[in-house]
Amino acid sequence: MKISEALANTINTFKNANIESYGLDARVLLAHILNIEQYRLILDNQKDLSEKDIIKLNDFTKRRVKGEPIAYITGKKEFYSIELDITKDVLIPRPETEQLVDLAIFYARKHSTVLDIGTGSGAIAIALKKNRPDLIVYACDISYKALEIAKKNAGSILGDNSIYFFKSDLFHAFKGKKFNLILSNPPYLDIASIGSLQKEILFEPKNALFADAHGNETIRRIICRADEFLSNNGFLIIEIGDQYNFIQEICAQNNYSVSILKDYANLPRIAVLQKNK
Ligand code: GLN
Repeated sequence: MKISEALANTINTFKNANIESYGLDARVLLAHILNIEQYRLILDNQKDLSEKDIIKLNDFTKRRVKGEPIAYITGKKEFYSIELDITKDVLIPRPETEQLVDLAIFYARKHSTVLDIGTGSGAIAIALKKNRPDLIVYACDISYKALEIAKKNAGSILGDNSIYFFKSDLFHAFKGKKFNLILSNPPYLDIASIGSLQKEILFEPKNALFADAHGNETIRRIICRADEFLSNNGFLIIEIGDQYNFIQEICAQNNYSVSILKDYANLPRIAVLQKNK
């Protein structure tokens, strides 16, 4: 089978399965299997696939049709122009979260100390340290398996010991420590919404996505404890979903001022908090 044929077949299968991003998904899968850049699928479209590649393509296509996200099939995801290794133990980094990194790069003073809570694949911490090597970056996660992936990613992208990783339920491992900047993309989806979500999302770790109390609980726990770990004039930057009103309330109760930025879909997405003096 030629590349052109394999591509057309895969696109067709994905179209029939109502996969919205059928063209992109087919190109990503095929380029991954052939270990080539996507543009080569066009340049080399008359080349034949090996027997092994055809078997792989069939297997991967079936998995995608069942709803498995491309990132779990290829084991890769690009975030902030960095290629990360991804497994089912970590959330697939989203483009919206790149805005959180932009803000962290902007707000962090030179040589300051930063903590990324619930680092998952390490996406935020690694993107930040790569663009701001002056910062001292700590990252934690409650999941050992996630930390293994994050450490591996940090090692291959930045070199060993570039980020300080800790197994920790939010702030637990950091008693007595202060940070100039605390970042988090916490779980914030309401478990009650699970029925209305795309089937792709059910492949991702539940504890990275869903929180109690309508999705508010982890955000509440972070904001209620942050004071003890924030240095004077420090910032707390948190990704949110439907928490626009909740964030205003909890900030008022805990004496924080907050500004909320919208994402490219015009939805409130990133909350920047600072303690009132
Ligand atoms: N933004 C993700 C989604 O809606 C959720 C990520 C999260 O809970 N932190 O798919």
